[in-house]
Amino acid sequence: ALAEGEGFEDGDLDLEAGAHVPLPVLAVVGRPNVGKSTLVNRIIGRREAVVEDRPGVTRDRVQYEATWNGRRFKVVDTGGWEIDVLGIDAMVAAQAELGIETADAVLFVVDATVGATDTDEALVKLIRRSGKPVVLCANKVDGQSTEAEAAYLWSLGLGEPYPVSALHGRGSGDLLDAVLAVLPEAPPQTFGTALGGPRRVALIGRPNVGKSSLLNKVAGEERVVVNELAGTTRDPVDELIELGGKTWKFVDTAGIRRRVHLTAGADFYASLRTSAALEKAEVAVVLIDASETLAEQDTRIISMAVEAGRAVVVAYNKWDQMDEERRYYLEREIEKDLVQVQWAPRVNVSALTGRHMEKLVPAIETALAGWETRIPTAKLNAFLGELVAAHPHPIRGGKQPRILFGTQAGIKPPRFVLFASGFLEAGYRRFIERRLREEFGFTGTPISISVRVRE
Ligand code: GDP
Ligand code: GDP
Repeated sequence: ALAEGEGFEDGDLDLEAGAHVPLPVLAVVGRPNVGKSTLVNRIIGRREAVVEDRPGVTRDRVQYEATWNGRRFKVVDTGGWEIDVLGIDAMVAAQAELGIETADAVLFVVDATVGATDTDEALVKLIRRSGKPVVLCANKVDGQSTEAEAAYLWSLGLGEPYPVSALHGRGSGDLLDAVLAVLPEAPPQTFGTALGGPRRVALIGRPNVGKSSLLNKVAGEERVVVNELAGTTRDPVDELIELGGKTWKFVDTAGIRRRVHLTAGADFYASLRTSAALEKAEVAVVLIDASETLAEQDTRIISMAVEAGRAVVVAYNKWDQMDEERRYYLEREIEKDLVQVQWAPRVNVSALTGRHMEKLVPAIETALAGWETRIPTAKLNAFLGELVAAHPHPIRGGKQPRILFGTQAGIKPPRFVLFASGFLEAGYRRFIERRLREEFGFTGTPISISVRVRE
C-alpha cells in the first residue's frame, strides 16, 4: 500500500494516547569561535555550517533535533549571529543567558587551545546561577598532544572537562554520553500533565503587543512563582496564576516580563522564546496588537503555534484604541490573513482597561476541549459514509477515489487517518476537514488528516 498524507505527522498509526511529549532541550553555550556551530553540526549529524543563519529570519533553524543512543532531544545553538550592535561581552552574555534560560541542560564549550578567558569565567557564573546541569566541553583538542590543555579547564569548577574535537569528531561520543546523563528524559513541565497538574499556557506575540501588561493584569496579586514549589525548581520562569477559579501555569513568563533591550537579534530572541514556550505549553494565547496593522511576524507566530500542534486562542489586545476605521481594516485582515486559524476562538481585550479579561478563560477552555476531542470510530465512519455519499470525490482519469474507512489516531491535537481507494486531492481533504469541524467542533485546535491509499 502507498502512504500519502499531510499534517503534523505522517508516521505510523498511533492508536493510544497520541499525547505530544516535548523533548528536553540542550543549549550549546560559549564565546564566539570556540566551535559551537561545528559541535552542533556534529551532534545533529550534519556537515553543513549553520553559522550563516541570520537572526529572526530562520527561526526553524534555531533549534535542531538530535538523537543519541536512541534518545531524542533538541539542541539550541545560541551562537552564529552577528555581533555588532552591542559590545561583544554584553552580547555573548545576553545570548548565553537566553540559551540557558530556555534549556534543560547546558553544554558549555571552551576553546582548550586558548584556555579559560574572562568571558568564559563570566559565562560560568551565569550557568551556575541558573542551577541547570552542565557539561564542560574542552574543544579543539584535535590530538593527544593537546589533551593536557583540556585538563587546565578543571579550574573553571564545572567538573570534568571533556576533550573533544568538534571538527574531527574525536571524543564527541563520550561528550554526548555525559550530556545524556544530565539531560532529563523530558522537560520537567511534562510531569505536570502526567499528574494532572495545571494546564500550561504560552502567552506569545511579537514585542510590544502587551504580553507583560496582560500577564500583570490577569495575575493581579495572586502570582505564585513556580520555583517556590517542590519539584519544579528546574525552571524558574513558569508562573502559577489563578484564573476563573482554576490554576493555570503560564510558561516562560520571565521571558515575557524581562524586556530584551537589544535591537539586533531581538527577533531571534523572540523566536527562540516562542518556540521554547510552545514546546512546553498545551495552549497558546497569541496576542495581537489590534491598534496596528497585522504584521508578518504576527502571522508567523500563529503559524508556529499551529505547526507545534497547540490549541490556539487569538487575543486582540489594545481594544481600547479601536475606532471605526481601524475596525473596518481589522475585519478584512482577519478574513484575509488569519484564514489559517479561522477555527481559533477570538477575544478582544484591553490589558490597560481590563476589558473582556473574563472571556480569556472560557476561550482557553474551549480551545483545550477541542484539542482533546476524540471521535469514536463508529461515529466518525457514520459521518464519513454520509459525507462521501453526498459529496463523492471528483472523478480523475476515469477513477473515483473513495474513502473506505477512517479513524482518529490521536488527540492533542486530533489526528485522523483515512483509508482510501485512491489519492485524495488536497481540495477534497480540505473539504473533509471543514466538514469535520462543522460536525464535531474542534474549535481552537489544528487537526491533521493523513490519507493511506489501499490499492
Ligand atoms: P562558534 O562561533 O562558537 O559557533 O564557532 P564555529 O563553530 O564557527 O568555529 C570557529 C572556528 O573554529 C571555525 O573555523 C572552525 O572550523 C574551528 N573549529 C571548530 N571546532 C574545531 C576543532 O575541534 N578543532 C579545530 N582545530 N578547529 C575547530
Ligand atoms: P510586550 O512586549 O508584549 O510584553 O508588551 P508590553 O506589555 O510591554 O506593552 C507594550 C506597550 O503597550 C506598553 O507601553 C503598554 O503600556 C502598552 N499596552 C499594553 N496593553 C495595552 C492596551 O490594552 N491598551 C493600550 N492602549 N496600551 C497597551
